Amino acid sequence: MVAVGNDIQEKLISEAEIQEKVKELGKRISGDYGDAENLIVVGILKGAIIFLSDLVREITIPINLDFMAVSSYGTNIHSSGAVRILKDLEVDIEDKHVLIVEDIVDTGLTLKYLLENLKSRSPKSVKTCTLLDKPERRTVGVKVDYNGFNIPDRFVVGYGLDYAERYRNLPYIGVLKPKAYE
Ligand code: 5GP
Ligand code: MG
Ligand code: MG
Repeated sequence: MVAVGNDIQEKLISEAEIQEKVKELGKRISGDYGDAENLIVVGILKGAIIFLSDLVREITIPINLDFMAVSSYGTNIHSSGAVRILKDLEVDIEDKHVLIVEDIVDTGLTLKYLLENLKSRSPKSVKTCTLLDKPERRTVGVKVDYNGFNIPDRFVVGYGLDYAERYRNLPYIGVLKPKAYE
């Protein structure tokens, strides 16, 4: 049997560390929004879905869930810089609190685009939450309100993050062996 973890060279963040962090983020978010009504949690497909599904179960206030899909990367590991909406929200966010949930912030281009796009729809507020952040790689300024982990400038997979659509089902965050790119 070929296990999905066979291609992993190094585990960067364990399942247990992720779960602990997700609990902490869920608690903070629940406390910060408190009685604010109409929180819409916007998951960015596909990378954020595993994080999102764990995170929302740690959020103890009522929320609505919606999704957007954007393209910035294609199947390789370098960003083109261009962001395109592949799937838009179904709900109207006017006058609502919005929390964008991302898997990773790298150059910041995707999140900056999403922030500007959603802000133009007159929400009450827009905040951002990401599981991973690579601060060294930032090329545009963007505010991350809730961040799970800062990581070094390495291409990671697992817990929703893919390489060529693979490895999303790995329960931890890891770095691929060079042979996996061949
Ligand atoms: P940004 O627009 O911030 O440069 O990139 C954001 C997107 O690039 C993420 O949502 C993710 O899809 C992809 N990305 C950036 N760094 C990594 C990485 O280390 N691993 C994977 N799998 N995707 C990444
Ligand atoms: Mg993403
Ligand atoms: Mg990807």
